[in-house]
Parts: sequence; C-alpha cells; structure tokens
Amino acid sequence: MTSPDDSFDWTFVNGEVVPSASATVSVRASGLNYGIGLFEGIRATWNEERAELFVMEPLAHYRRMARSARILGLPLAYSPEELLAATLELLRRNDVRENAYVRPLLVQSGEALTVRTEGIDTMCSIALTRLPGHYIKPGGIRCMVSSWRRAPDEAVPSRAKTSGGYVGPALAKNEALRHGFDEAILLTTSGHVCEGTTSNVLVRRGHEWLTPPASDDILEGITRRQVMTLIGQELGETVVERSIDRSELYAADEVFLCGTAVQLSPVVEIDHRPVGDGAIGERAQRLLDVLRAISRGDDERHLAWVEPVYASLRTQEQPV
Ligand code: PMP
Repeated sequence: MTSPDDSFDWTFVNGEVVPSASATVSVRASGLNYGIGLFEGIRATWNEERAELFVMEPLAHYRRMARSARILGLPLAYSPEELLAATLELLRRNDVRENAYVRPLLVQSGEALTVRTEGIDTMCSIALTRLPGHYIKPGGIRCMVSSWRRAPDEAVPSRAKTSGGYVGPALAKNEALRHGFDEAILLTTSGHVCEGTTSNVLVRRGHEWLTPPASDDILEGITRRQVMTLIGQELGETVVERSIDRSELYAADEVFLCGTAVQLSPVVEIDHRPVGDGAIGERAQRLLDVLRAISRGDDERHLAWVEPVYASLRTQEQPV
C-alpha cells in the first residue's frame, strides 16, 4: 500500500498550488465512477553531485497529454509549455531533492449521471510521488503472456493514456503475480505481442531489434522512442517496427520492457522459457546504464532530453 509518506505537501489543481490533502474529487465524480480521465507519468531524478533535479522529457509527456485530451474530447485548459512551467514551479515549491514521479491528471470532476466525455466539469492536477531508487528488480524479471488481451484501439483509444484503460492491465498484473511471475506481457486481440502492463516491449533476434508498431494497439511510449534512438547510437543496431508473433518471444535472444517508471527492465524468462541464456543481456544492461546517466543529467550528448529544475533559479541569483 502507498503510505502518505510517498506524497509531497503541495499539489497543482486547476492553476493553483494547494495543500495535497485538499486535492480531492467527490465520490460522485464521473472520473471515479466511469474512469473518464487521462494522465501522464514523468520521471524526475535527483543528482546529488550536481545538487540538481532533472525531469525527463516533460514536454513530450505534456504533448502526449494534449493528444490524449484531443482524442477523448476532454478540455485541457493549459498548453504543454504552461504545464511544464507549472511542473517546475511545483517541484521547487515542494523542494524536491530526491527521485520523484510527476503525475499530471485530467479527470471528470463533474457529477453527471450521463456517460460522455464532453460537457462535464474536469479537474486538471499535477501530483508528486516519491520514487524508490531501485524500482527495477536486480537479476531481470520473469514474465508470462497474459490470458488478458490489450483492449484494441477500436474499443478504447490505445494512444490516449486513459484512466479507464488500465482495468485490463491491472487484471493481467494480478494474474502474473498470482502465478509467481513479476510482470505480464499482453497480446493484441489478433494474438500479436503488444506491451507490458505499463511498458513497451523490445525483442532482439541477432542484430535486429523488433518492437510492435504504433498501429498494434500500444501506447506510444516516450521511453520506447528514446531507446530506439539509443539502440542506433550506442549499439549501431537497427529497430524494426512490425507485428511480433508470440513464438518470437520464445525464440528471442534478448527481451526488455521499457517505460518511465521501469526505465528498462530486462526480461530473463517468459512462460518458463529462458530468454537467450537466461541472464540479463549485455546490450540491455548497456542501454539501461545510458538511460540512467541521461536521466541524471550526466550524459552531455542528451542534455536536451532533461529539464533541470533548480538551474534557472541559480542563474537568477547570480550578481550582475
Ligand atoms: N504502455 C503503457 C500501457 C504504459 O502505461 C506506459 C507507461 N506510461 C508505457 C507503455 C510506456 O510509456 P512511457 O515510456 O511514455 O512511460
């Protein structure tokens, strides 16, 4: 269970910073009853040596949030740039000096009985949660192919990060944990590999990497895009976006999941079959190391991917 200690004192709600305890919605809210809302998850990484907090590609997340809002027809009153400014202010206001997870949410706070996305009041909030340093299990994770399928785009829009869209993945996660696995891999309704419960999947066969295309009902992950770039830059290998069969998971030399919270999570076993030689792949480890360095603001080549939180304050404080 999440303890209150995981939260920070201040939360952004509809343009204002309020005490976190007062950032609430009614039990009659449509967002709670019908799951009509959308959200984001953004990583903020504390770098002790530099005394700086770095936010990983916040604008990309807020642009995806704007697309989610457009897809659902929920009104989002702020531009991605305004939400970025609000995020930086909120992180400073809470004086965050540790790893944190930024959680923007646009949710129906209105209490209408009607099920629709338009014409009902919404609340736009940004909350912060503490993020444990070792979120990723050392030694790699064991996965099962879930009996639950990812909802197809024609039923629930896949490229919108919707609150209600996580019912299926939550059931898949239960099933995986009850069977003694760490995580579930969901297939599409046509039986192709789709994604983890909150992550995208990449598969290596020889020198070629595969990942499901955006049209196979995945959430278009920001980490997925970063990792695809790094596979070219760091490993000199290529990534092909194409539908992946279930048996290709079993035949793979390497498989990993990637996403904001998990960063990059090497998969060492799927459905009781070892992936490759059953140990964390060298390439996955290298990509994870690079991704960690980037998120800490320690990789000069990828400073454009991170937004420092306190740097602008220090510039202002300098004597003229
Ligand atoms: N798929 C799903 C269903 C997710 O919830 C997430 C996490 N946001 C991802 C993929 C990975 O996306 P990202 O790298 O943008 O966090």
